[in-house]
Amino acid sequence: MADTGFVQKEKLNDFLNELSKDAVVYAPCLEGDTVIFKAFDSGTTLCLDRPANNPPKLVVFPQSETLFSFKYKKDAEDPRKMSVELEANTDFPRAIIFGARPCDAKGFRIYDSVYIDTNTPDPYYKGRREKTMIATLCCSAPSPGCFCVAVGGGPAHREGSDVLITQLEKGYFIEPVTEKGRAILNVPRIEDGEQYAEEAHKRQLESHDLVRNPFAEDGQPKISRALFDLDEFWEHVVSKCLSCGACTYLCPTCYCFNITDEQALNNGERIRSWDGCMFSHFTLEGSGHNPRPTKFKRFKNRVGHKFLYYPEKYNGVIACCGCGRCIRHCPVSVDISEIVSYLRGPRFEFTNEPPESMGTDTNSQEQKQ
Ligand code: SF4
Ligand code: SF4
Repeated sequence: MADTGFVQKEKLNDFLNELSKDAVVYAPCLEGDTVIFKAFDSGTTLCLDRPANNPPKLVVFPQSETLFSFKYKKDAEDPRKMSVELEANTDFPRAIIFGARPCDAKGFRIYDSVYIDTNTPDPYYKGRREKTMIATLCCSAPSPGCFCVAVGGGPAHREGSDVLITQLEKGYFIEPVTEKGRAILNVPRIEDGEQYAEEAHKRQLESHDLVRNPFAEDGQPKISRALFDLDEFWEHVVSKCLSCGACTYLCPTCYCFNITDEQALNNGERIRSWDGCMFSHFTLEGSGHNPRPTKFKRFKNRVGHKFLYYPEKYNGVIACCGCGRCIRHCPVSVDISEIVSYLRGPRFEFTNEPPESMGTDTNSQEQKQ
């Protein structure tokens, strides 16, 4: 078998149709003028020109999934007794994520440490992850807000990918990264890619230098703990946040969830759904006490989790892959890269105005909560 493959531009849809025979293929597709990851079929319009608005995390960690069904059974002889039957939902389909970006693929490695590489792996995440192949498209140019190189990634970074794809003039150069990814070389409509390897690797190197690094020369932000612990800093930099939670839902490394039961009379389902630390009810306790009652405390937790607590627990790995989605899609342009850049210390000074790129402070008492 050849070590690399190549798919002609005009044969890409046919290639994806071949892949779809054996697995559900998720790809970035146009919906109006928005690009979203969804199941590909002959009626969808593929769009590989820009990163999807949503990350492909939903393939392995669905926005809402039934963990198991339950049924109560009354004892016919003794009505005081009842048994419960459980049926776990472990029928995970084979899936291929085609056209994830390198930051998206790296995001799955952040999840893996929490949900797989532990003494108590999450069977639902693990089950889906094992049945999913990630075919990643290298970025030829950064999108607004991207800063992957500042957090240890890059536009041709391989971590988390099973296959790396580079777009060339005539088509797509395909390199397996893992054993799982090598299966893609057997798919009909793929040719030997050897003659395209040099051009692809040249493109991969060129794109790396185009990405901004807002932190430090060495790419690792060194956060001032004194500034991080200062409430006034957080009140100032997130004053206009609306607590809408878009940043957490669109983040390929945010993995918080909530569990609810949907129950009829004698049966029901236990459902896991995405949740987010930017919502006030996320930490609301049954007693009514909320340890993070204000949005600045919630935002501090979000940044702290990604840039301090997670790295402390997982060998210095930053739990942000620099995809820039939270920057591009925040309705009031809160910029996490700017805030982390300030947290490096000496360059930040308080003024009476919010930081320049954060616009007018339209804060109200409700927004504070
Ligand atoms: S930072 Fe922006 S996207 Fe995130 S909750 Fe606040 S307003 Fe919404
Ligand atoms: S915090 Fe923002 S830039 Fe970092 S991975 Fe999440 S969405 Fe992307």
